[in-house]
Amino acid sequence: MSDPVFQIRNIDAAEKWQQILADLVTDPKELLKILDLDPAHLPLDPQVLESFPLKVPRPFLARMEKGNWQDPLLRQVLPLDQELPASDTLATRDPLGEEDSNPVPGLLHKYHGRVLLTVAPHCAVHCRYCFRRHFDYQRNTPGRQAWQSVIDYIARDPQITEVIYSGGDPLAAGDRQLAWLTASLESIPHLRRLRIHTRTPIMIPQRVTSELLAWLTGTRLRPVLVLHSNHARELDEQVADAIDRLSANGLTLLNQSVLLKGVNDNPQALIELSERLFELGVLPYYLHLLDPVQGVRHFEVSEARGLQLVEQLRHRLPGYLVPRLAREVAGAAAKLTLA
Ligand code: SF4
Repeated sequence: MSDPVFQIRNIDAAEKWQQILADLVTDPKELLKILDLDPAHLPLDPQVLESFPLKVPRPFLARMEKGNWQDPLLRQVLPLDQELPASDTLATRDPLGEEDSNPVPGLLHKYHGRVLLTVAPHCAVHCRYCFRRHFDYQRNTPGRQAWQSVIDYIARDPQITEVIYSGGDPLAAGDRQLAWLTASLESIPHLRRLRIHTRTPIMIPQRVTSELLAWLTGTRLRPVLVLHSNHARELDEQVADAIDRLSANGLTLLNQSVLLKGVNDNPQALIELSERLFELGVLPYYLHLLDPVQGVRHFEVSEARGLQLVEQLRHRLPGYLVPRLAREVAGAAAKLTLA
């Protein structure tokens, strides 16, 4: 087996994001070995990985601190037995009731005027707190022909003005597919905006290629990119360069985070995240309370604590650097903003 440290150093030389995506760390033993942590301290029921496999891209892994089980980046991807259903009987597999808002495969219509497309059935990383960890991607991965039903659905409803690319992670899909879909959508006259929710540029900054920028800036739809970063340490210099390329092309850049126990549930971590985002030209947008999906309870931070944290941020940051605390409620007409 090759030296794991060498594997990390080699990332700089790898230019193609597809190669990095094809070479994710999927074995917990390898993950821990690279981080100088003893796998014997992580007894893991095989069911945990069967229900939601490990996926960690090497550029993200390279930002973790070696020898630290509590590293906030590691905690987001580390599978634990606490995820097993037996430890969490109250939570549901579909906390946002998305199955009821799925009129056509590949499309979720939850809120007025906006539809969400599950453009890619996979991600560059598996965040252990993900609310779509049990989502039915098999039903929601249309081929080209089935995408036509999605396009027809949007074309029939003139109230829809915004399309949101989601997933999985939409930027885990290739640029040819994304450029084709975007070109098909822009022919619908009532569509105005294209919003992309993605964590891929944080995980694999090499994903911000000239091909990506070409379709993203070449559309008449006004693009908004909502990044997903939870901790300032995720935003290293490679990510800064990628974000620079996005903002140099005039894209509106926002960030949303999830409030996670042991990751960012303290004022200092949230302040550093907001400061770093702004330094890179990204506005903090939402701080989400965890969606109660089965298997994520160990990340939960109470609403009271969330409100307290946002209040602390208000005392220490200008208003535009304080994200809005939000919660999604199944069946509600909009996201619930709590502070
Ligand atoms: S990148 Fe987003 S969709 Fe993918 S696992 Fe993480 S939170 Fe879930």
